[in-house]
Amino acid sequence: MTEDRARKVYAIDRGTVIDHIPSPLALKVVEILGVKQEGILTIGINFKSAKLGSKDIVKVENLKLTESVTDRLALVAPTATINIIEQGRVVEKRPIHIPREFHGLLRCPNPKCITNVEEVTTVFHLEGEPPHPAVRCHYCERLYKNPGELVE
Ligand SMILES: [Zn+2]
Repeated sequence: MTEDRARKVYAIDRGTVIDHIPSPLALKVVEILGVKQEGILTIGINFKSAKLGSKDIVKVENLKLTESVTDRLALVAPTATINIIEQGRVVEKRPIHIPREFHGLLRCPNPKCITNVEEVTTVFHLEGEPPHPAVRCHYCERLYKNPGELVE
């Protein structure tokens, strides 16, 4: 399917389009965004992409996702681009920003970590660069190489 066809077939009037998601991470992206149904949620998997080979696209109708929400995708889909659509047009285009720290986004897999014993907000520091990021727990200092799996 060409880029042009991908855009047309699933066109929405208002909402958020997350484009250039590496395949097959669309479902993971939906999970991370924690999108509650506000309209039609379209998930397209395996479109051809000059940049990525193949890509996924997620379209969330009637919902304008804020930057703090879409930046959660930094760990799993740093190449993704966010398009905000109003009246059928792109009114805002933004990349994913990659924060150096994640607060309250990930759960520490270490059962003895204080964040799993007491009510402490988790803090992870990014080490290494996407697409091969690792995160280190601020409290127990363990390093995790596949942080996309840790998202609550
Ligand atoms: Zn920890």
